[in-house]
Amino acid sequence: MMFAKLAAWSMRRPLHHTLIFHRVLADRDPMSPGEPTAAWFDDLIAMLARNFELLALSEAVRRAADGTLRAGSVSITFDDGYADNATIAAPVLRKHSAPATFFVASGYLDGGRMWNDTIIETFRRLDPGTHEIDAEAGLTFTLGDWASRRQAAGDTIKAWKHLPPAQRRANVEALATRVGGLPDDLMMTTEQLRGLDAQRGVTIGGHTRTHPILAAIDDDEARGEIEGGKADLESVLQHDIELFAYPNGKAGADYTAGHADLVRRAGFAAAVATDWGTLSTATDRYRIPRFTPWHTNLARFSIDLARCHYGQL
Ligand SMILES: [Zn+2]
Repeated sequence: MMFAKLAAWSMRRPLHHTLIFHRVLADRDPMSPGEPTAAWFDDLIAMLARNFELLALSEAVRRAADGTLRAGSVSITFDDGYADNATIAAPVLRKHSAPATFFVASGYLDGGRMWNDTIIETFRRLDPGTHEIDAEAGLTFTLGDWASRRQAAGDTIKAWKHLPPAQRRANVEALATRVGGLPDDLMMTTEQLRGLDAQRGVTIGGHTRTHPILAAIDDDEARGEIEGGKADLESVLQHDIELFAYPNGKAGADYTAGHADLVRRAGFAAAVATDWGTLSTATDRYRIPRFTPWHTNLARFSIDLARCHYGQL
């Protein structure tokens, strides 16, 4: 069904696709079985390198602007700044000479942890048995096998996702006190970020400081997050940061035209969303669409993507 939508776009403008990733895990994780593994990612990038022109996102934006973007090109992007981007994904990308852009939320560098990961890591570690997490929201779980832990983490993330930021932070912090030993190495260190930035074909982009849903905070705060994230990365890397990704990235729900304007005025040259579609000369360069390669069946995914590109769907 999702491909039908993508295909409809591609029929009109069979041009450039931008893919979103978050993590690439060394092995399958029973708490996050849907996350790409290193082996899957290697196969995917090999397939893409064989069948498409892999373009740095900045190059695709430049070609879209001057009308030289052609069908059959793909850009690879990563959001959030996970350490595995540097340790697992980057070597695979290097192996295939594949360019990629990494959008990093600067506030989590050097030991930070995103709220959803704190929830997942807590439910991974809680003792078996019944736990009342948030009586008001009806979050009481009996934990045992991996399926029950995944379900509890998923339900809690869903229930807390749209709470006001301060309330959500308080809930997550209280939850985290129930277990010890939560990981502090999920996100990149500044050293890992510098190493990634130095790799040929790698671009680092802004993704705010603390990854708020921009539409849920006031404009001053949003400006501070957008400009602050850019300044943090520029201070670590000592060069301009020109691309931005909206946290969550859905037009209307997560960002508005006002935020696109803040991003432009902060000095970014282009910004990516998570809205569906392709990049063409007609695309607003502060609302570049992207999509997640969700098919675990690589053959199916590659056929669909190829057909979309060449207008056969
Ligand atoms: Zn993100």
